[in-house]
Amino acid sequence: MLNIRIQYLKDEINKHNYNYYVNDNPTISDYEYDKLFAELKQIEAEHPELVTPDSPTQRVGSVSQRFLPFTHKHRLYSLDNTYNYEDLKSWYTKLQQEYGSEIELVCELKIDGLAIALTYENGIFVRGVTRGDGITGEEITQNLKTIKAIPLKLKDKVNLDVRGEIYMPKSSFEKLNAENLEKGEKLFANPRNAAAGSLRQLDSTITAKRDLSMFTYTLVAEEIANPPQTHYDSIMYMKEQGFKVNPNIKLCKNADEAVAYCKEWETKRFDLDYATDGVVIKVNKISIQEDLGFTSRAPKWATAFKFPPEEVSTVVESIELGVGKTGAITPVAVLKPVQLAGSTVSRASLHNFDEIKRLDLRIGDTVLIKKAAEIIPKVIKVADTPNHEDRPVYIPPEVCPVCGHKLETIEGEVNLYCVNTDCAGLIKAKIEFWASKDAMDIDFLGPAVIEQLYNKGMVKTPADLYKLKIEDFMKLDLVKEKSATNLFNAIQKSKTNTLKRFITALNIKNIGKETADILAREYGTLDNLRNATFDTLKELNGIGELTAKEIEKFFNNERNITLLNELKSLGVEPQAAQQAQSSIFKGMTFVLTGTLEKMTRNQASDIIKLNGGQTSSSVSKNTTYVLAGESAGSKLTKAQNLGIKILTEKDFLEMIGKEI
Ligand code: NAD
Repeated sequence: MLNIRIQYLKDEINKHNYNYYVNDNPTISDYEYDKLFAELKQIEAEHPELVTPDSPTQRVGSVSQRFLPFTHKHRLYSLDNTYNYEDLKSWYTKLQQEYGSEIELVCELKIDGLAIALTYENGIFVRGVTRGDGITGEEITQNLKTIKAIPLKLKDKVNLDVRGEIYMPKSSFEKLNAENLEKGEKLFANPRNAAAGSLRQLDSTITAKRDLSMFTYTLVAEEIANPPQTHYDSIMYMKEQGFKVNPNIKLCKNADEAVAYCKEWETKRFDLDYATDGVVIKVNKISIQEDLGFTSRAPKWATAFKFPPEEVSTVVESIELGVGKTGAITPVAVLKPVQLAGSTVSRASLHNFDEIKRLDLRIGDTVLIKKAAEIIPKVIKVADTPNHEDRPVYIPPEVCPVCGHKLETIEGEVNLYCVNTDCAGLIKAKIEFWASKDAMDIDFLGPAVIEQLYNKGMVKTPADLYKLKIEDFMKLDLVKEKSATNLFNAIQKSKTNTLKRFITALNIKNIGKETADILAREYGTLDNLRNATFDTLKELNGIGELTAKEIEKFFNNERNITLLNELKSLGVEPQAAQQAQSSIFKGMTFVLTGTLEKMTRNQASDIIKLNGGQTSSSVSKNTTYVLAGESAGSKLTKAQNLGIKILTEKDFLEMIGKEI
């Protein structure tokens, strides 16, 4: 029996290794792969007589045959990993038993890319080889030379090898996939696969076009004078020689500090522009590392703590159709509930019907789903799923799932639309959007309340919300006097919202909160905007003809005119937008990070814009200032690395002439 299970596990792991390392196209999540691997390791630990030399637990990775093979002078290893802190602590306790209580550790982010070994002779880059199976890799020197983070010449004329991780920034990965989608080319499952696929191109001009980078994390320097005695010093040495090292490396006194580092990065990682799937914890002292040595596939002096998975697989039980605020029909995958990044997930977004076709998703298929911070989980691909071909291909609907009206397409768009303005789905979606955070931001008015208000015939347009009294809310199920009062007050409060929120809430095609902001600033009042002509609108920075046309169409539509007049008569009077105050920040781009004391980041952002500046969410060489508050994270570090001027809140207030 055990033999059958072992063989099954080996076959599965080998198949997935091939998909992952050779084809750069995994069909299960890393978490599920790690579970198979851990099970095999566990059985082998209990039955050492069943371990064979060809077991995946005895080996590292896999080599593809695309480039010339090269045998590494020093073997490259993998890492043992765990998903829980107890294992990490017991690993440390064992070290303490052998080497005494004070064992310094170095914590590094585990970059989710692919390992590379670089060789330098007399300070000149001569060769770069992939990890492959750890013994033999592929020689890809030409391709590596196109990566700017790899120095072609070091500070000193030394002979040394380094190892590091090649990765593709998340933003570049998204961009590459968007371009590939447009060209109808293969999409990469994640930044790691995109990096691997880009690096192992036979034509190095293709690699050069892909945005790849590298963090260097291991020094193999037998020939340099006075080699560093600790891992941390070796990182500093590599940095001095011109290698890019990760700025978030931390020296820790003990396991508790290492655990704190892991916990800190479990959430902070989402702010980084590169994927990291965990933390690598290494013994700092090189003499202890040498003494501990390696198992057949991993060093004993290091271990990886892996973050809870962002990707898991589950079964699509059905596809539910909804109507969005524009009338677009939105398909949602209803999933067999599964744990993902700390919560139970039972639905995932499918965007539109083209996406279902592209994925070739059929009901009953097993899919890989992914969740990034606070984003609704998304179906990435159909996993290795038995009987996929036997299931019927998904056919998009022809009529609206809510009102039965025939669906229409719009030229140049992928969505199917319900154009029935009386469609209950459309009406509810519009009211939900009206109340949403970015629009009128009405507390307590969520989909469940709106559903009841609509079903009881109390609300058909946003204006109807402002006619409701406290007693009306008390007619709803589960709404008592206190909640009714809260709802009433929240709706009343929204009457004097900013013009930007009001314009956003109107749900004019192509107008999100950013464009609404431009319009609010330009026109100051709703009446001014209603009177604006197509010719003046299209000249505005950030608007353009298409949007100008939509605005004109919206304000000339009879229903909308009625709605706006009704809202006005009910006392919904958006606040005139603040007019520009100065142009002291003209041409400057600010990035805001951390917690400010005297104002929120949104308020600071408003001040910047009112004074002619711009804000951006990510730091780049085009950033003029980073305004950093308390607990500023990776953006601050990046700014420091790029030499961008950092402002404290006090500096900022001084710039705008305010004392604190
Ligand atoms: P690994 O990714 O678990 O860990 C070892 C690797 O970590 C090193 O080789 C190195 O490339 C990398 N690394 C990143 N940052 C590092 C740092 N700061 N210091 C040292 N090393 C660092 O090992 P692996 O052997 O490459 O792959 C095994 C893992 O790959 C599995 O645990 C799984 O997550 C994934 N995998 C997935 C599939 C799949 O089908 N989904 C298949 C095979 C492997």
